[in-house]
Amino acid sequence: MRKLQVILGLIMVISVFLPWASVETFGWKTTAAGIDYGYGILVLIMGIFCVGLPLLAEPKIKGIGHLATGIIALIGLAGYWGTVRSEVGMLGVSPEFGFILCIIVAIAVIITGISQMVVKSARKEDVLGAGKANLSCPKCGAENKPGAKFCQNCGAPLSKE
Ligand SMILES: [Zn+2]
Repeated sequence: MRKLQVILGLIMVISVFLPWASVETFGWKTTAAGIDYGYGILVLIMGIFCVGLPLLAEPKIKGIGHLATGIIALIGLAGYWGTVRSEVGMLGVSPEFGFILCIIVAIAVIITGISQMVVKSARKEDVLGAGKANLSCPKCGAENKPGAKFCQNCGAPLSKE
């Protein structure tokens, strides 16, 4: 999961430098990278964040960090889309490879963030469940049912720690 998130972040960083739009002006067709647009820089920052998070952040905030990063990147891309749409009439701009790749990566980052949070909460439940199941007697060490007050084997009181 951590490797996947680093790879996704790297793809996001790289895709900012890939063509985001083909601009046709006076019959000349040129391409513009995401870095040429304000929103491209936002996505670049989010990409770097995405690479750094799994390496630096505490496991607790990794899942939610990725979820937030993906959503911010998507908002940035939506903003870029608005720019593109407003320029269409004048220049004939169309989204290209890098932009589409960025959207796919942003969605993938959101999914990995959510799945990490789900895995974590499942693990937490497991730990809590195990704690409830193993109520061993401090005197004889016999296993007792969760919530039992006295040991079934020796009758010693089971104090909850
Ligand atoms: Zn006992």
